[in-house]
This record gives sequence, structure tokens and C-alpha cells, in this order.
Amino acid sequence: ISQRVAPFGTTIFTEINQLAQQHSALNLGQGKPDFDTPTAILDQVVQSLRAGNLNQYAPGDGTPALRQAVARHAERFYQLDIDPTHGVIVTSGATEGIFASILGLVDPGDEVIVLEPFYDSYVPDILMAHAIPVFVPLHAPDWHFDPAELRAAFGKKTRAIILNTPHNPTGRVFTREELSFIAALCHEYDVTVIADEVYEHLTFGEAYHIPIATLPGMFERTVTVSSSGKLFSATGWKIGWVSGPPALIEGVSRAHQFITFSVHHPTQEAIAYALNLPTSYYQEFQQLYTSKRALLMSALDGAGFRYTVPDGTYFIMVDYTPLFSGSALDFTRYLIQEAGVACIPPGAFYSADHAHLADGYARLAFCKSDSMLHEVGERLARLA
Ligand code: PMP
Ligand code: GLN
Repeated sequence: ISQRVAPFGTTIFTEINQLAQQHSALNLGQGKPDFDTPTAILDQVVQSLRAGNLNQYAPGDGTPALRQAVARHAERFYQLDIDPTHGVIVTSGATEGIFASILGLVDPGDEVIVLEPFYDSYVPDILMAHAIPVFVPLHAPDWHFDPAELRAAFGKKTRAIILNTPHNPTGRVFTREELSFIAALCHEYDVTVIADEVYEHLTFGEAYHIPIATLPGMFERTVTVSSSGKLFSATGWKIGWVSGPPALIEGVSRAHQFITFSVHHPTQEAIAYALNLPTSYYQEFQQLYTSKRALLMSALDGAGFRYTVPDGTYFIMVDYTPLFSGSALDFTRYLIQEAGVACIPPGAFYSADHAHLADGYARLAFCKSDSMLHEVGERLARLA
């Protein structure tokens, strides 16, 4: 195998899924729902499959209907004016969207700032582009960045920052004040933002999502990545998109055309339909997850775990130290074997030098049926 991929190993998600299966554990590891995609959306896929003209290659940058729907969604929720023809690329999930953005917008030797912990694909993407990741820590328990540390990470070689809000794995939703601070640095150092907003509709209580592209002067320097996986409980379809100013989207498109060329055609039409659903869909989606978050929090409370209440995403970063002393990986094995509940040890979300910072924490996902979350509560209670 190539030197490029030799250090990567197996993703933590695959590893934990195998372990969870061996022990028949309730799997709160990988962020994928155990319930199905809404029926109305499934019906659209079936219709598209049978339409007679949608089973061959889709247009490379995505179907006109889906690009139009992405632009309309950005206008409806954020008053952003996206050009559906030159400002949107449909990708194979956000995963390809982020990779194509890095390949299309970052040169070898450029620095890319990443807030740590980070979603696990960012760093391999940066390394495969022969760029250099620069890490800025988020500090527990509330997962804030230190403005001085962030400023110190910016320099002449900084080309881009990957900004994920709402943030996986911490559940942070960055505030306008924090985003303005990042934006000012991006202006000062002429830096592009790759905004990963796949959890854009998963915010709770008073928290609300602010796309950094909506801040003054930021649209021109931001590509925003999102995905249908979370929003429509369809992680298996791998339909994502990147939107932004045509000058940047051109770079993403040039990379995308030689990574996948185009993505699954019939589901694009179904996702176009889904994105255009009335605002009530989005509200119900939020309510559904507000109650699932409450179920997992009460399960954790019952067992005596500590955690910072997440303002967004469907994850909780749990501080397990009141119940267990040992590494995050040891805790994960303990939880799977002793309680029959699987979680993700967050080491994979840290650079090798900082992986020890993950010790003390475990990420649990609440994108699960209420009955599973209740059973998790019963199983965790036995640990207390
Ligand atoms: N970014 C973040 C922050 C994620 O949590 C995920 C995982 N779903 C992705 C990107 C990848 O999304 P997709 O499944 O659409 O490739
Ligand atoms: N985004 C999901 C998570 O963080 C799934 C990631 C994956 O399977 N690669 O759990």
C-alpha cells in the first residue's frame, strides 16, 4: 500500500461496530439512526427509480432539481443567495464534499486549521492533499476555543479553516461572537472557510445555527458542506452538497468530476423533494431529537455520568471519570462488555500527539429509537 495511506488504519466506526456486534451491545457508537427514512421520502425514491429516465448518470454537478432545492433551502432558512447553476455541487455525502473542497481549494504545503476534537475524515483528507493540519483545541467542559490560541494558529501559510458547527463530537453550536472572531481572522489572513454544517437543523432550546457564510463579507470566502444523511435519516444514501460563490465552487467541481463524477441519480430527485418540505418537517425533526436527547440525558443521569448538555448534533460527550478510571478505549470495552452499550472513544477525533486528551470522554449518539434509549437507561443503571 502507498505511504500516503499506510498510517491511516481502520476507522473507529468500523472497529466499534464489530465489537458491538460481537457483544450484542446497544450501539450508540456510529451516528446512524436505527429507524427508517420518512415514508414520504422513500416513496419519492421509488417513483424516481420507476420514472424511466433517472437510472443513468446524473449531471456531474448534480441534478437541476436538487441544486435548485439546495439554493431554495439556503434562501428560506438563512436568506443566502446561492446560484443553483454555478454555486452548488452535489457530492457523495458530506465526506466527499469536504475532500473535494480541500483538493479543489488547498495547495500542497498550505496549512489548514482544524478545531480539535474534529470529525475523523478531515485530517486524512488534508494529508492526502499534501497540506498541513494545524490544530486548535476546544477546551472542556464547555468546548470553547481560546481566542489567543486560535489567533496564534493563523499565519502566512494558512489557506483554509475547517469549521464544523453544530460540532461533532462535542455538541457545541458556535455563537455569533465566536464566528465573528473567526471571520475577522479569515479576512486578516485571507483564509477560505470550509464550513461543515451537516447538523444545521439539529439545535436545541435557545441555541440556533448561524452559517458563517451569512456573516458580513464571508460568503465570498466560504464553501458550505451539508448532507441529507442526518436531516432525512438517510445516511445510507450518501447525498451531500457543497454551496458557495461560483469562484470557489469551480475548484470543488474540478476535483469532484474526477473523484466520483456524479452521484446516485434517483435519490437526488427524492432529496430535492425532501429539502422542499414545509418548515413543519424541520420543526418536527428538531422536536423528535429534543426528546431523544432528554432520554439519553436521563439514562446518563441515572448512572451518575457527567456531561455538558449538547446544544446541537445527536451526540453527547460524556465524562466517564465518576464511574471508571482508565483510557477511553478501555472504558469503551468496559461499557460494551459490562453494560452491553457501545460508544465511540474520541481518540480518533484528536491528532496523535493529543489523543490522550480523549481519555475521560466517550461519545454517545442519541439518533436511536426511544425503546433503545430506554433500554440503555436500564443497562447503564446497573453500573451505578
Ligand atoms: N461531517 C460531520 C461532522 C459528520 O458527523 C459526518 C458524519 N455523518 C459527516 C461530515 C459525513 O457525512 P456524510 O454521511 O454525508 O458523508
Ligand atoms: N458521522 C457519523 C459519526 O460521526 C458517521 C461517520 C462514519 O460512519 N464515517 O458517527
